[in-house]
Amino acid sequence: MDLSYSPEYEQYRIELREFLAAYWPVRDHAGTPAEATAEFQRRAIEREYLFRHVPRKYGGSEQAPDFLKNEIIREEFRRAGAPADPLHMGIQRIIPVLLQWGSEAQRDFFIPGTMTGEYYWSQGYSEPDAGSDLAAVRTTAKLVGDRWIVNGQKIWSSNAYKARFMNALVRTEPEPRHCGISYLIIDLHQPGVEIRRIRQITGESEFCEVFFNDAQAPADWVVGGRGNGWEVSRTTLRHERSGFGSVYWLDTLLRRLIVLATDTRRGGRRAIDEPGLRREMARIQARIMAMRFSAYRDLSMEAAGEPSGDYLQMQKLYLTDTIYQIDRVARELLAGDFLLATPGEGRDGRKGSVKWIEHSLNNLKIAIAGGSSNIQRNIIGERVLGMPKDFVGKLPREARPTEAVV
Ligand SMILES: Cc1cc2nc3c(=O)[nH]c(=O)nc-3n(C[C@H](O)[C@H](O)[C@H](O)COP(=O)(O)OP(=O)(O)OC[C@H]3O[C@@H](n4cnc5c(N)ncnc54)[C@H](O)[C@@H]3O)c2cc1C
Repeated sequence: MDLSYSPEYEQYRIELREFLAAYWPVRDHAGTPAEATAEFQRRAIEREYLFRHVPRKYGGSEQAPDFLKNEIIREEFRRAGAPADPLHMGIQRIIPVLLQWGSEAQRDFFIPGTMTGEYYWSQGYSEPDAGSDLAAVRTTAKLVGDRWIVNGQKIWSSNAYKARFMNALVRTEPEPRHCGISYLIIDLHQPGVEIRRIRQITGESEFCEVFFNDAQAPADWVVGGRGNGWEVSRTTLRHERSGFGSVYWLDTLLRRLIVLATDTRRGGRRAIDEPGLRREMARIQARIMAMRFSAYRDLSMEAAGEPSGDYLQMQKLYLTDTIYQIDRVARELLAGDFLLATPGEGRDGRKGSVKWIEHSLNNLKIAIAGGSSNIQRNIIGERVLGMPKDFVGKLPREARPTEAVV
């Protein structure tokens, strides 16, 4: 693995730093903060730092994929605290899908509004009886004249209550399993759609149930061809890949944990001075370092044009386990405060307890979102280690194991 950037890339970094120093934060802007940020982003697109994968005609900067430049941009924008590509669903997932599979008309209609944030999206894959086993989706779309008539139910659709469109997997053909599924765009602002928010353990309600009762979609809103939805939904574009996002997140969590351990007093001394706790925190830090260097190795292989390693397949499971380890230490440090904290600060004045509770409850979702930990283990077993296919997916739902999340 080669961890150094070539002189060409180091020069790129220098120019990027100069750009950020000159334009971020935006100084002396007459408009609102949002307008000032938009002005900065416009300049960054002009200089080809943002929306690199989006063609110019849709408002992007249309650059060839370059993993090293992407990483340098990510690093330097983070360092400067500058707003990078927005991470909402439309930008991250829909635009790449439309660029790869969409018709010209679909791209022209959906991409510009998605870029500006006017069109907000929700993903409609999961159903009450189709989660890990997505091929079991039962929501149907029948073509009647020039409209699809949609009936069925989606669940766990993040932020559907504020979305305009849903990219849904629906059954358009009678064929079994993967074959009969299409990737259909549905306008959520219509009478045949009912959205119910689900209250979560954190008190928030970001997930929704979405019911379709003779909802309609134009015939040409299927993306990637009728019956080809499975293939389209599997799309992960190369330029989306990066193993670093989760490392930055873990860095932040570990920093907070160190503050908490420094502020906590047990048996008359600072918790952070206890050898057992230090050992545990050092172990967590070592895991994060291992993730960072695995991501570097992956990046180095990509840059050398070699097939990337297996790290990205393991990353989510490793991330989930590390977050739970951090959470467990935080819960031990907060002890009773963890349960007693009220908004503002913890019982004995230690600030931040409430945030830890929120984090802890919120983090339970990581073992499930985007493919549960058991499914991640199956992927590693089958695709990385070449082990035989698992049999658990064939068991009835109630007989499947639950996730261990402590
Ligand atoms: C934060 C969050 C955001 C989400 N956002 C969206 C969204 O926007 N749109 C959307 O469509 N969905 C969304 N989901 C749903 C998510 O994709 C599903 O919850 C997930 O795929 C698991 O499906 P399930 O809930 O039906 O559980 P099941 O598939 O029923 O799994 C139940 C348990 O059985 C285990 N299991 C299942 N199959 C196997 C197997 N073959 N081998 C071993 N164990 C197995 C699982 O690991 C799990 O422990 C979101 C979920 C979360 C937590």
